[in-house]
Formats: sequence, structure tokens, C-alpha cells
Amino acid sequence: MRLANLARRLHLITDSGAVDVESASDGRFDADPQKIYARWPEFRAWAETADLSQGRRYAREALGAPTPAPAQLVAVGLNYRDHATETGFSVPDGLPPVFAKFASSLSGPYTTVRLPEGNVDWEVELAVVVGATASGVSEEQAWQHVAGYTVAQDLSERVLQMSGPAPQFSLGKSHAGFTPLGPWLTTLDEIPDPTSLRLTTEVNGEVVQDGTTRDLLFPVPALIARLSRIITLWPGDVILTGTPAGVGMGCTPPRYLAPGDILTTRIEGLGTLEQRFTAQPQDTAE
Ligand code: ZN
Repeated sequence: MRLANLARRLHLITDSGAVDVESASDGRFDADPQKIYARWPEFRAWAETADLSQGRRYAREALGAPTPAPAQLVAVGLNYRDHATETGFSVPDGLPPVFAKFASSLSGPYTTVRLPEGNVDWEVELAVVVGATASGVSEEQAWQHVAGYTVAQDLSERVLQMSGPAPQFSLGKSHAGFTPLGPWLTTLDEIPDPTSLRLTTEVNGEVVQDGTTRDLLFPVPALIARLSRIITLWPGDVILTGTPAGVGMGCTPPRYLAPGDILTTRIEGLGTLEQRFTAQPQDTAE
């Protein structure tokens, strides 16, 4: 099952197009895409028997983040060995570095992003959406607390991210539009093997990141178990699971996004994001 935020309304994406959930359920489920995760088991049961034959065509630009307003947007760093190495950090043992991205940085899958001052870099990431409150869950129980997956791009302004006596990861990664998410949520049953998904990033068609979730140091169940020992994960929360090698700061010389660049972010079986970058308003004729 694929679940999308289309023009701020919850839709199921089927072979025939997009089905509006509020209409198809005769008002049983709210149109607000964020609200569905609190009723996840009930919604899944309904969707399995619902009449979804009335799909409509839609414009991809109307897609928003499948979780437009999560209570928590948790990001994990250094969760691929080759990425930890390229950025000069050591590989974590007990717990990978965890930081917050602020929800105001979320956007849909196809957007234009204004480049702030500094060096803006790319990070393709498998994102997991929480489907049930998780507190102190074991690795074995972890999947029962997941609604599904989506594709994330963890855009990062490296100057601010690395500045000061304690680095500013959360702010450097939370500029407007810095967390494109989508194109939809894909439920677990659609992905037979989440441990070998190919993740890629392209800049203007050139492949710069090409990894696989097989290389995750802390796979999804391990992340949920470790995070939920400390924080309570709520339905609709999003966890970004980290990025493989190939980010711009790891290049020699480093390479960052420039106005006019097009960034294509893809995870096998989950879909594609596309971001176009523009200069700050004072640098343009707008
Ligand atoms: Zn990241």
C-alpha cells in the first residue's frame, strides 16, 4: 500500500491513480495526512477491503510530505561505515549520533530549494515512519511499531553544521525545504527485503551516492530499540536512518550544491525525490 499527501489530503496511490481517503471512507478517516498514523491498525484493516477503484490522475507537484507535521523528526548520523570514514569521524559502537531535524524543514518530494549562505550538501536516507507508540521496545518487537518507509533527503549546510564548540547539526540541517520526503509512504508488506535496498543520489544526472541498506551499521530494528530506550516514539514520527558514502564534503576537493543544480534522490522500490536549487533572493532578479 502506498499512502500519499496530495494537495494536503490523504490519498491511497493505486494502479488507477490517487484515491481520496476521506471520501472513500465516507468520512470515517480524516483528510489530514498526519492524523492517520494514530489510527494505523484500524486504517490498515479498512484499506484492505475498501473499494479503491476510483483512482484519479494527479500532478506529482501536488505531492507533499507523507508526514507533513510529525511530533518528532529524528535523524541518525554515521550509520554507514564508508560515510563515517569519508567524513573523518570514527564509527560509532553502542549508539550512533542522533540529532533532531526541525519539522519546519519538511517538504514534498518535488520542490525548489533556496540555497542559504554556506555549503549545502546532499544525503540520501531511508526514512521510517512510526505506526505505534514505542517505548522500551526490543529489536524483535520493533517492526510492529513501523507504518512504513519513505525516501528522505537530509540536506545539510556544512558550515553551520560544523561550527561552534558543540556542532550545530540540528540547525545546519533545518533550513526551509531541507528535508524533502516522499513521494509517498510504502507499507512494509510491499518491500520483501528492506535489508538490501539500493539508495542513490544524482547531481545533474551524475551518480554521486550509490549505497545499499545492507551496509547500515544499526538497521531499523536496532535503531528503534536503542532510540525507544530513551525517547518515546509516537505514531507519525519520522526516523532518518543515515546516509551512505558519496556526500559532497567527502569529495576532493569538496563539492556543494549551486544554483541551477538538480538533485535526484532515489531508493529502490520506494520512489524518487527531485530538488532544484536557486540562489538567495538578493542574488537573483526576482
Ligand atoms: Zn543525514
